[in-house]
Amino acid sequence: QSQELSQVQIDYQAALQALLEDGTRMVCTGRMHTDRLCRFQSLCYSTEAEEFIYFHSNASIMLPNLGSRRFQPALLDLSSVEDHNTQYFNFVELPAAALKFMPKPVFVPDVALIANRFNPDNLMHVFHDDLLPIYYTMQQFSDLGAEARLFFMEGWSEGVHFDLYKLLSNKQPLLREQLKTLGRLLCFTKSYVGLSKITTWYQYGFVQPQGPKANILVSGNEIRQFTKFLMQKLNVSLEESSGEEYIVVFSRTINRLILNEAELILALAQEFQMKTITVSLEEHSFSDIVRLISNASMLVSMHGAQLVTSLFLPRGAVVVELFPYAINPEHYTPYKTLATLPGMDLQYVAWQNTAREDTVTYPDRPWDQGGIAHLDKAEQERIMRSTEVPRHLCCRNPEWLFRAYQDTKVDIPALLQVIRQAVKSKPGPKKQKWAGGLYPGKVRDAKCQASVQGTSEAKLSVSWQIPWNLKYLKVREVKYEVWIQEQGENTYMPYILSHQNHTFSENIKPFTIYLVWIRCIFNKNLLGPFADVLLCST
Ligand code: UDP
Repeated sequence: QSQELSQVQIDYQAALQALLEDGTRMVCTGRMHTDRLCRFQSLCYSTEAEEFIYFHSNASIMLPNLGSRRFQPALLDLSSVEDHNTQYFNFVELPAAALKFMPKPVFVPDVALIANRFNPDNLMHVFHDDLLPIYYTMQQFSDLGAEARLFFMEGWSEGVHFDLYKLLSNKQPLLREQLKTLGRLLCFTKSYVGLSKITTWYQYGFVQPQGPKANILVSGNEIRQFTKFLMQKLNVSLEESSGEEYIVVFSRTINRLILNEAELILALAQEFQMKTITVSLEEHSFSDIVRLISNASMLVSMHGAQLVTSLFLPRGAVVVELFPYAINPEHYTPYKTLATLPGMDLQYVAWQNTAREDTVTYPDRPWDQGGIAHLDKAEQERIMRSTEVPRHLCCRNPEWLFRAYQDTKVDIPALLQVIRQAVKSKPGPKKQKWAGGLYPGKVRDAKCQASVQGTSEAKLSVSWQIPWNLKYLKVREVKYEVWIQEQGENTYMPYILSHQNHTFSENIKPFTIYLVWIRCIFNKNLLGPFADVLLCST
């Protein structure tokens, strides 16, 4: 620990005095509990009551000041999973004077990020719900630097992936249980509470069947900045490519097995003329897995959390996701959504086992491993006969669990056919650099001039200048879109033009006011903003 921090610790009387006089100060961002993040000075926590405490004094601040709306349903979400009722944050209020009767506070000198992990034993959840949101919450607030300390309040033990959480800051993360050993009343000098949801791409189906989030705000660039950071921490260098191309089969060893894995590996190697290797979470360290995946040309795996490691694939690589019998790939798309995020530049292929004779079911296992023996006979039979699991909510649908934990003999010719088709139709790694996704600015100096010929004919000449940023860019194709709308009408005539001026004569009437909207388009699909509307009278 640095000298500076131990001095803060030493000055106990001053810290206590400040807490008594200033109380707690809170300022949050976000309009709703689902998008709120709060910054606190002197937020306290009772390890006996397991409650956060807000101390009121003459100098305390509480923004937003919601009154009892703070409980409807909560001040904010502690995890990045939206509006989950086990993940809410709130505090209880006390006057600062109550401190006289309370245990002596222990001050936490580190800047704290206080949050919940959602499901720390599942790798998809670890990355999607925790690591990426924590990383980007820390990017959002400059005092959440490498010396910040993470506090996980969900109440789980470390979990199997704790080493990954440790990479996010230089200080050991602390768990709820460990807080008890620090004292009865903890006071966080400076803390942030909650996680940014800006990087999440999937909703797990708590209120509607699972699927991509409605408004995805993350692109491949931010994913790669994050993986670059993690790889540095894991001592995996990006530039160690030996040049030899290879395929990684990520296998599961406990359940949802590929029954003919050896045969599959041989077939892939032969088909693509590449070395093909297998990895599993059971047999490889995480660094080794990342090292292998980060240079792979293709990642093949059963549907499952291990596929979140496609985060680490290089651009242009192919993700092949295998689905057991009766599981419709379109209904379970966390990894497809990831692979197809804008700018991820991965090719995604799904294959589903459609042959009943190639599936092995486990009706007699415990319910949480997909067993169905506890259901009534008619229901068991219905599930056995069904050819597709209907869409369902998370997380205990027995038909889903039954099908999800089947083992599969992969129909190799059929799989190779699907891969060939998908990879042929969108060939090769995209060489596109960052400039490929830049949008035009507004067109400038737009003008119009009208001329009337007789009583029934008129012309409208419109001209404009290129967007300001175009002169600094190399753009393959520049086009302009012009909409001509008669004032008061709610339809318009659209035109796509290559030049910076055009004379419109079709459907232009004399003595009429037209509104002219102009925007620039780069490379067919990069639409710029409309310039201020032009008013043109003929
Ligand atoms: N897991 C694994 N090998 C297996 C089965 C599971 O490594 O044979 C991992 C899996 O990647 C995930 C965790 O164990 O991180 C929980 O797996 P589960 O089947 O519950 O979830 P899913 O993979 O369907 O999300």
